[in-house]
Order: sequence, then C-alpha cells, then structure tokens
Amino acid sequence: MEDGALVVAGGLIRAIGGYGEIKKEFGQYKTLDHDSSILLPGLINGHCHLELSHLVFPEHDRDNNCYHGAFTTWIKELLTERERFFQENADAENLILQHARQTLQHMSADGVAFIGDVGNSLSSRTIGEDQKTRVYFLLELLGLTKESEAKTSARLENIAADAALDISCTPHAPYSTSPGSIQAIKRQAGRQNQIVSIHVAESWQEVEFLQSGAGAFKEFLCERGAWDGTFTIPALGPVQYLNRLGVIDSRTICVHCVHMDRADINILAEKKAKVCLCPGSNRFLGVGKAPVTEFLDHGILPALGTDSMASNQELNMWREMRLLREDHPEISPESVFDMATRGGAEAWGISAEIGSLEPGKQSLAQAVMYQGKINSPGDIFEMLTTAGDSLQREWLG
Ligand SMILES: [Zn+2]
Repeated sequence: MEDGALVVAGGLIRAIGGYGEIKKEFGQYKTLDHDSSILLPGLINGHCHLELSHLVFPEHDRDNNCYHGAFTTWIKELLTERERFFQENADAENLILQHARQTLQHMSADGVAFIGDVGNSLSSRTIGEDQKTRVYFLLELLGLTKESEAKTSARLENIAADAALDISCTPHAPYSTSPGSIQAIKRQAGRQNQIVSIHVAESWQEVEFLQSGAGAFKEFLCERGAWDGTFTIPALGPVQYLNRLGVIDSRTICVHCVHMDRADINILAEKKAKVCLCPGSNRFLGVGKAPVTEFLDHGILPALGTDSMASNQELNMWREMRLLREDHPEISPESVFDMATRGGAEAWGISAEIGSLEPGKQSLAQAVMYQGKINSPGDIFEMLTTAGDSLQREWLG
C-alpha cells in the first residue's frame, strides 16, 4: 500500500488504510510520519537455542562460513565445548544467561518480534523475561535408552505437578529421543495445548540411521553410552516414523526438513504439520538444502529460523531470508518474506496476534528505510529479502 497509514492504540492495530481516509476518520490521533519507509510486521524467528549463544567453535572457518567436520563430530564438539565452559567458569550459568540476553536484544534491535526458543536448561525459560521480543520457551528432553526414558517420564510428571512451572517440553530429534518419550512429550504438550518442535531430517546420516540402524549416528550413540539396544530401527523416513508414533499434527513443528522424500512431504501436508527452515545453519554444517519448492507446492508455508550460534555464523533473520533467496532463486521474494513473518506465526500458533499488519493484531510493527528506487511492490520484497543486515530499521512507537 502506497502512502498508507496504520492506526495504533492500546498496543493493538485499530485500522489500516490510505493516509487520506485514515486522517479523516482518526484526525484526533497523534501522527508519526515515516517518510521514505516501509511499514512491516515484526519478524518471527521460528527456531533458536538462545542458551547456546556463548558457544563459538574453535574450528569455525569464518571466511567460508562453514564447519569442516562431519555432523556427528559437530555434535561431539558442541557437547565438549558446553562442558568446557562449565569447567572453566565458576559462574557459567549466569554467563550463559547474559550471552543469551545479549543475543535476544540484538535480535530485537533487528526487528524480531517473536522467537521460538528451545533449551535444555530450566533456567533458560527466564531469558525472555521483560524483553520487547516475545520468547516462547520449550524445554528439550532427549535420550534413546530405557533408563533415559524413565528419567524423561519422571521429569514430565514433575513439571506437570509443579503449578509454578508454566513450561512445556519438546523432544530433540528422532535419532536421540526414544519413541516412548517422544509420544509422552507430545501427549503432555497436547494436554497443555502447547506446540512441540522437533529437529527432523537435518542430515543424511539421520535418515541412514533410521532406515538401516547403521552409520555415524549408531557409532556416536554407542560411543556416548547412549545405546542400550532397546531402540527398534524403524526402517522408515523420519517423518514417516514420527507419523507412525502419532506425533505429527498441526501443533508439531518439524525443524530443518532437509532430507525428505515424497512420502515425508505428503504426510506433512496431509497432517498440516509445520516446517521450519534454517538455511544459515544448514549451510554452516554443510548438510544440504531443504526441498522448499516442494513444500510450497504442497501448500506448506514454512517458518524461518536462525538456529543457534553453535551452528550459524550470526543470528539475523534478514540474513536468513537472503541465504534462502541465494539457495532457491526460483522462490519468489514475497514467499520468502511470508516465511519470516506469517509462516513463523502460524507455526507457533500465534497468527491471530502477530505475523502480519491487520486490525486487531498487536502493534509490534517496524519501519524499514528504502534502499534504492522502488517501482513496484515486487521491488520492496526484493529489497527486504536481499539486503541482509544492511537494512536501516526501527520499531514503531
Ligand atoms: Zn536447533
């Protein structure tokens, strides 16, 4: 909309229209002029682990923005770095929260209105307290052995019984969390009407493990003492396996979804499950590119997420849009912008509140300065999805 106006009162959008009409109807309102700017909804970061913001890998190759080791080597290093941080810092927990809050504030300054956040530490649920950007925290549980399944079950019971602890749990991934635990977590989330978010089909090694029980993941699990032989290899693709467990529905977000076959995508579409893409993380770990066109062709509008500092060069949603455009030049800039806003809001069940500028929704809007000449609406989306972090922006109000 050219020469448009947005009426905001009490934290909500009251009306949207041409400036002339709006001025006539709402003449008594204070007017803020955002000349040479585009007004937009806040961005939605559909997948992040704020609690990993302190991790910087020594193996980073910052010139090429990628990790050189195998996927399972990266997981090992991530766990080693986490342990090392605790050994080297007596005040580790506080430092981790400080790093996480700094990252959150940066994202807020970059126009992110909402973050879907996943963490393993209970203290991470406090990261989003009193911040402009809303954080929806999920406590991640994992473990493939019978012993860890019993622990997960006890943890779920304790969390449900603690009225002061208003959080929901989520499973890590099909290769790391037992089927019984995945089902129990999903059941509990369902009772609380909460979202479940699970890493799915991030690497081909995951698919290999679920299909055949062999490969790097099996070795990794044995090496970590996380294999007791009780996990039955499903011999199915990741989504087909999760669907057999009955946990794929419209309140399940499948994160990454890089290595999907047609049957997997059909299930996601049929169940109206949500997909969250993390192009920056996928590029950093060299795991491949998600079949984004196929998702769109099946009526799935994915969300977009940064993932964490453990698997990304920086956590910037403008950059994620740019990387997605680079990886998939066939996808329209409008669709990519839609993913970073409406797609994320739909995935996290908050599209009635944010994700687009519409009357009745929250007034968490931002103004982005034009860069270059704008001749058509298409030019605007082109600019927004290719500018990366060079954009100049501010929150409205
Ligand atoms: Zn993740």
